[in-house]
Amino acid sequence: MLPQQHTADLRLTSLLAQLYEVLLSDKWNTVRLTRAKLRNWVTYWHHGGTVAAIAYKLCNALREACKGKGCGKVIEDIEDRFGGFEDLCFVAGFLHDHNKLFKNPDQLRELLTDIVGYVGVELYFGSEEDREELLEAIMAVAEATEGGLTGRIEGMGLSILWPILMTADYLASQESVSDVEELVFGLAGKAYSDAYQLLRRLGLVIGTISVGTGNLLTAMVSKDIVEILRNRGWEPLAIYYDGIAVVGVENSSTKLTLREIAEAFTRELKNVAIEIDENKVKTLLGKLLKSRNEVAAALESFVKAKVAEKSVDEESNPKRLVALIAALHALDKIGFKKVYELASRRLAGYQPAKLGAQYIVGKTTFAKDFLDGYGVSNVMELLRRLAIESPFLLTDLIAKMAAKFDKTRKPRYSKKLLEELLKANSLQPSLAARLPDKVGLIYSLALSLAARVVIKEGPEKLVEIVEKIFGIKDVERVVEEFALDYVTGRVSGTIVVPDRPSTINDAAGYCVVCRTPLRKSYVEGMPLFKVYGDVLRAPKGVVELWVSDDPPLADLDASSSPYVMARRICLACLYEASRIGGFFPPLTVYALHPAVALEQLVLEQLLLEALNEVFANREYRIDKAFESVYKTLKKAQKRELSVEQRMVIDYLGARMLVPFPFKERETSMSITVSRASKFYAFAGPVLYLLGGGQLAVASSLAELKLLSRRPVSAGIAPTWLTTILELLERGVREQAEKVRNTYRAVVDALLAYYHNLTSFRLEDADEAYSLLEAVSADPIVALLYPLILVREERDGRRYSPAPYSNVFFHVHRLEEVLKSLGVREKGLTDHLYLYAVTLYCSLPPQTRQSISKYHVQSPLREALNILLDYKGVLDSKSVKRLAVDNAVSVLKRRLAPQGLSLKDDAESKIRRAIEGVLDALEPTLSALAPSKARRLAEAVLDSAYETYRILRPEACTKEEEKVKA
Ligand SMILES: [Zn+2]
Repeated sequence: MLPQQHTADLRLTSLLAQLYEVLLSDKWNTVRLTRAKLRNWVTYWHHGGTVAAIAYKLCNALREACKGKGCGKVIEDIEDRFGGFEDLCFVAGFLHDHNKLFKNPDQLRELLTDIVGYVGVELYFGSEEDREELLEAIMAVAEATEGGLTGRIEGMGLSILWPILMTADYLASQESVSDVEELVFGLAGKAYSDAYQLLRRLGLVIGTISVGTGNLLTAMVSKDIVEILRNRGWEPLAIYYDGIAVVGVENSSTKLTLREIAEAFTRELKNVAIEIDENKVKTLLGKLLKSRNEVAAALESFVKAKVAEKSVDEESNPKRLVALIAALHALDKIGFKKVYELASRRLAGYQPAKLGAQYIVGKTTFAKDFLDGYGVSNVMELLRRLAIESPFLLTDLIAKMAAKFDKTRKPRYSKKLLEELLKANSLQPSLAARLPDKVGLIYSLALSLAARVVIKEGPEKLVEIVEKIFGIKDVERVVEEFALDYVTGRVSGTIVVPDRPSTINDAAGYCVVCRTPLRKSYVEGMPLFKVYGDVLRAPKGVVELWVSDDPPLADLDASSSPYVMARRICLACLYEASRIGGFFPPLTVYALHPAVALEQLVLEQLLLEALNEVFANREYRIDKAFESVYKTLKKAQKRELSVEQRMVIDYLGARMLVPFPFKERETSMSITVSRASKFYAFAGPVLYLLGGGQLAVASSLAELKLLSRRPVSAGIAPTWLTTILELLERGVREQAEKVRNTYRAVVDALLAYYHNLTSFRLEDADEAYSLLEAVSADPIVALLYPLILVREERDGRRYSPAPYSNVFFHVHRLEEVLKSLGVREKGLTDHLYLYAVTLYCSLPPQTRQSISKYHVQSPLREALNILLDYKGVLDSKSVKRLAVDNAVSVLKRRLAPQGLSLKDDAESKIRRAIEGVLDALEPTLSALAPSKARRLAEAVLDSAYETYRILRPEACTKEEEKVKA
């Protein structure tokens, strides 16, 4: 594919790339990965970077607005003292929340020194005095961003930075473009509204475009819309899941009409509409018709060089012979007699040709041969198109053919079918797919027909016919009308002029996929639902799929059924269906919600492209990944932003569509457990290396709108993972204060694994945060490493992708790391382990591996069931005693038939283990809704068996040593 050029500000992107390199050092990892907002999963790198970029752009716009005005002088004064105005805003913007990061100004000074030292900002930083003044300015700006205009910032002559930073922080902190509209309409909090009013008085305007749909079409068009905005004097500031906020200069930035926006959609849709609607025969004809002279010349040469009686003798290919004979006949160069003579002389030896000759004589000419060679639909389609426009030429031919076929052929050649084909308005997409190798003959056919038209009616007529056949004008009209309606219902904003009524009152149908109403004037131009299946290359069943508004028992099998003919899809859905295959479904999306600056989004795309390649090449090594990140940063710093276009950036949705990183034999929309595991394995390191963001996988784009609430999500997850994510969310809400500032993006993915085997209690979530907080960045990378290894080779053996249950091993590694750091905590895992190991060691060695999952789980299942059933009825202590007693007797009953029994000390150990499990689970189980509590219990049972399954005899020796000690 062609490299794509980004629409980003090159210098700003380069500054961000330099900033990120600073943050990637061990020293600043905490700054990079600290969670910046309680409500959303956003790291400091993304929040701070976005504020920096927005502030930079606001300053730049202000410089423009202040030209020749008093405020221009203010900017000059600031530049005299500090250096570049935009650069000052950039650095101050990035550090606006420094008090949340650092407790003392020394750390801030150090980070500032690193930033100014490495990032190419033009700020005075040479002397001790300069450095302190800049530090002072940044602290003053940050203070003002928190608490409104202060004497400190005014005293430094930097009041003008206050509305800029306030607005930048506001924009970077919102979740939706509608929050920005509130600011524009004066409905935001007082301090923010005051700040914005100040910017307004200085001549800046903030505008919005909101988009009510997050599909592939919008994503593809989004870049064009950003370009249109730029041409109209609007600079992108922040992108949300549902639109974009821009800044303009009063009186020089102009609004956009819906019509202009629709044009961008039309351009994109037209390609697909024509691509799908046109077939290659018509393209060939089209080539002939570039100009009238060319037509004439082409026909002349065809007639002279090819269609001569002599050439019939030279031609040895039977099919080409038929075409030649047909063409000669069509051009009135030979009569029936001659046709018959030629056919019997030259074609008698060929079975199809014999038939062909027969039909040629019967005036049905080439039809039969083509029907056999190219399929009825292909040829009929061509004939139909020509016949519609040139009835004199073909109607009688087709009628005769129809009569013949009715008597002699299988039902699929029936008259009814031919009539249908003639009547049908939509094309057969299969035509294009099946044509290439048969182009030569169809070309001959088309040429001979074309020649006949030229001879009978002149070249003008041919041009006219072909233009109509191509239907290009009509396709254009349909696409334009549809795009306008589509945009009208979905796009709005403070800088959009609604130059169209938003309701469609002459709807004559709707898209059966997305339910967009379709106007009477173009409903017939929309593809049939069956095309959707063809384009998606879905199995045949899609055509017969029953959609909810089909009448019951409607005949969806027969292509003539009125129900089938009424089921249309819109062009946006056709578009998505035809393009989605390029992304190796299931669909993976990387998002930067709630808000991101365009340049940051672009930078992250570059990094992700590089990482994706590392993964696609199966190089699951963190050092390789790091290397590739650094390399990409260097490129971005040199302002080289062009990449292979493998991802689509949605500039109006703050996300990008990423090809599924692991190459698989087949692509399909379904998400299997194996795919989900691979995805989770990919997610951890990617989020770590990109410094946050969200990753999601789904079977349709509609599922992937606002992603900021969870760092990682997939359509399916093992039950325990879902439960843990829910608990984590609750934990974050309820323990907000504690987790504040201590969250790392990468920990999200890890925590899920970690919790599986430690504890499910809410309190432990908190404990885990602090435990992990105590782990420096390096061990975290070490922990991620095995997760990346979805496939590895050891001792010449190939290990298959890690299923979820094997996460256990990785978690054990985590525990080892924690232990090595002196951190120890006892939780559910220990009790599950105790249970498993006691059971294991008390059994005769030869039976240990042969007892079933059922044996291992049923005692625990009994205990958990009793706990869940009676926890509200009996007091906690009695419930647990009852649960443990029953569990032990269940265990004995299960073992007895196999002649097995528990040793005395084993029984008491198992009692303790089960008690421990119940103790660890009780608070969580009581807090959960019954159905979720059951799911959690199932997860614990899985975990217990997993623990048992991987035990080895050495475990018993260890246990004995422990007892002795
Ligand atoms: Zn649709």
